[in-house]
Amino acid sequence: MNQVEKIDQYVVIGNPIAHSKSPAIHARFAAQTGQRMQYQRLLAPIDGFATSVKAFMQAGGKGANVTVPFKLEAFALATQLTARAQAAGAVNTLKFDGEHILGDNTDGIGLVADIVCNAHVALRNKRILLLGAGGAARGVLLPILSEQPGELVIANRTLSKAQQLVALAQTHGAGNALLSAAEWPQLSGKFDLIINATSASLANEVPPISPALFSSATLAYDMMYGAQVTAFLRFSEAQGAQLRDGLGMLVEQAAEAFYLWRGVRPDTSSVLAELRLALES
Ligand code: NDP
Repeated sequence: MNQVEKIDQYVVIGNPIAHSKSPAIHARFAAQTGQRMQYQRLLAPIDGFATSVKAFMQAGGKGANVTVPFKLEAFALATQLTARAQAAGAVNTLKFDGEHILGDNTDGIGLVADIVCNAHVALRNKRILLLGAGGAARGVLLPILSEQPGELVIANRTLSKAQQLVALAQTHGAGNALLSAAEWPQLSGKFDLIINATSASLANEVPPISPALFSSATLAYDMMYGAQVTAFLRFSEAQGAQLRDGLGMLVEQAAEAFYLWRGVRPDTSSVLAELRLALES
């Protein structure tokens, strides 16, 4: 008897979710690599993340990306965690196998891939400033340290949270990098890379850092992206820095999730170029 082959199903779960570019990214990856799969948006009620995931698993779902505000709940729901998800304390990718739920975090490796492979900026021995100590900063901490920078300073509005991240990095092995936590006025010297992992850009604000931290060789990276240049990147441009937003990070974290699910690495450059064009048109 002929059986109709079911197409593997994936979703991105969040609330809100209508804005998500992930279905477009994964559709391009699937077409490019010849993978038979479908990827859709799933709006979960604010108090119904676990129920939504379980229902999707019951229906035969193979995996999910998780976005705001469910990354911590996804961490709690997973029955097994990758080392990088454990270190991040948050999960953005789930892979289902029967009742088994693997939780991974691909945000950090996405950021590093975008900086190192797409922007061609090596991090080894560099002086790096990470602004912010929330979920995104925590997720990128260890992937940055694994590139062996010379120094990493974490600066945050609430100093204690930056200090907690330093302690976390130390328990996971910070390599040889000089690690410290700081408040904005304590920052000094030039940095090779300044990453904005605060959500200040959402409010069109810039963390109050000194222009003296920038040189013309500094790469200013804002994890946020949008049709308009962010306030942080506008400020950095005025200091003569090189600029990059988080669109590449978004595509690269998706590619890593795709690899986890399908075992195939998609080409990210063409997808990033297409998304950039769509964003700016
Ligand atoms: P969180 O809410 O976990 O953390 C927010 C951080 O921003 C905290 O460190 C907070 O400081 C700081 N902050 C908030 N407002 C201000 C302000 N006005 N001035 C200075 N600091 C401020 O958010 P996330 O870590 O999840 O997200 C941070 C950013 O990263 C968002 O813009 C998000 O869109 C982006 N992101 C992009 C991704 C991509 O793929 N491109 C992936 C993930 C995130 P305090 O501790 O003092 O409150």
